[in-house]
Amino acid sequence: MNHARSHSVFAEAQTLIPGGVNSPARAFGAVGGEPVVIQRGEGAYLIDIDGNRYLDYVQSWGPMILGYGHPAVVSALQTQILNGTSFGAPTELENELAKIIIGSVPSIEKIRFVNSGTEAAMSAVRLARGFTGRTKIVKFIGNYHGHVDSLLVAAGSSAATLGVPNSPGVTPGSVQDTLLLPYNDVETLKKTFAAAGKDIAAVIVEPVAGNMGCVIGSSNFLYELRHVTQESGAILIFDEVLSGYRAGKAGAGQRFSITPDLTTLGKVIGGGLPVGAYGGRADIMDNVLPAGKVFQAGTLSGNPLAMAAGIATLQTLLQPNVFMSLERNMTMLAEGFEDEARAAGIPVHIAQIGSMMTLFFLKEPHGDAAKYRIEDVSLNGGKVERSTATSSSGSAFAGGITDWQTAAACNTERYAGFFRGMLERGFYFPCSQFETFFMSTAVTADEVRQTIKVAGEVFRSL
Ligand SMILES: *Cc1c(COP(=O)(O)O)cnc(C)c1O
Repeated sequence: MNHARSHSVFAEAQTLIPGGVNSPARAFGAVGGEPVVIQRGEGAYLIDIDGNRYLDYVQSWGPMILGYGHPAVVSALQTQILNGTSFGAPTELENELAKIIIGSVPSIEKIRFVNSGTEAAMSAVRLARGFTGRTKIVKFIGNYHGHVDSLLVAAGSSAATLGVPNSPGVTPGSVQDTLLLPYNDVETLKKTFAAAGKDIAAVIVEPVAGNMGCVIGSSNFLYELRHVTQESGAILIFDEVLSGYRAGKAGAGQRFSITPDLTTLGKVIGGGLPVGAYGGRADIMDNVLPAGKVFQAGTLSGNPLAMAAGIATLQTLLQPNVFMSLERNMTMLAEGFEDEARAAGIPVHIAQIGSMMTLFFLKEPHGDAAKYRIEDVSLNGGKVERSTATSSSGSAFAGGITDWQTAAACNTERYAGFFRGMLERGFYFPCSQFETFFMSTAVTADEVRQTIKVAGEVFRSL
């Protein structure tokens, strides 16, 4: 593949924009080489400025769940562009998207739209503190909630890749009320609440984590989270910016039938336009200005283009069988990768739920009986419960890699080799071991089979 034009555009970008990118996750730092520069998207494919085509499993890091140029989204946007792109005044579109989300996410009674997932997390934490009058928040190591100062500690995503858990510029003061706990660790959670429960305003958690690779919260962990927060009066915030409409038909909370107090959303609900949202119990949400006193505002919040793209996307997604067929394709990809890896003698752990999946390359097989697929593991001497997230096919599980510590022990060099081999063969995968693959409705079963076949070649070349 020729990447001459990508190379020259990226070289220029580095003179104009720090590191040549507007978000560090795009920089290919973790896999070596340079990013390809995209010209356009077409259904399931990305086309770069050298004319190379890639089957895309990144989907703008989640949002493009219908693929590129879906007719429903294009037509909604065309109509709205002619009507006006921002008013700073109420529109009916905001009600429409609110109704779709409230109708599909059982825990959300009222919702506020913002411009990004970062804003959603920041606002939800402020609201929880305002509502409870408490200061401390609990965050899990390896979870990512955007670049909010108080949450930018032991964060996943590009923060994890770059090994910068505490960014310069984040003051000790802004994280002093953030308690950091290991993910999926019920004992530490219980101990923390026994000691400090009455000071804790909120727990923010990715119920299915997607920013240390895909790591599924165990049922035990999630139920315990609901239990300890309810007992202590802390607000449980599910950060579903990534897992919303992906881990389940409407997200992880809906799939696991756990009712958080607040939920943050983003990515998919904007259909590829900048958006975020937070919502939940009406008695909490009514504390937001101007209904209540907790300040939160935005010039472009509820932007009509973002609303129109979000409405078209969710209406399409929520039609019968769409989620099922997305999940079926992702399960097929996960199982195919596993079979090919086994045949090539490469130890991997694959976590998959809904349209999310990560292929973890292990340094060492975890032992003969469970060389490729570990469904129950011993961690700190205790047995980690297998997640109820297991799909009917049995390919989704939480064992083996359960938290940041176990994820970080992966063979990132081997992942980089796999990534580069697939890119050169026309497959666009996440440029880090600690990110998630996404399925879109534009990818066909045949394309999934082709991906598996080519992955087999690359496994054997590693
Ligand atoms: C992407 C993400 C965010 C941040 O969203 P932005 O729109 O990038 O600000 C927050 N939380 C989770 C779980 C995410 O995956």
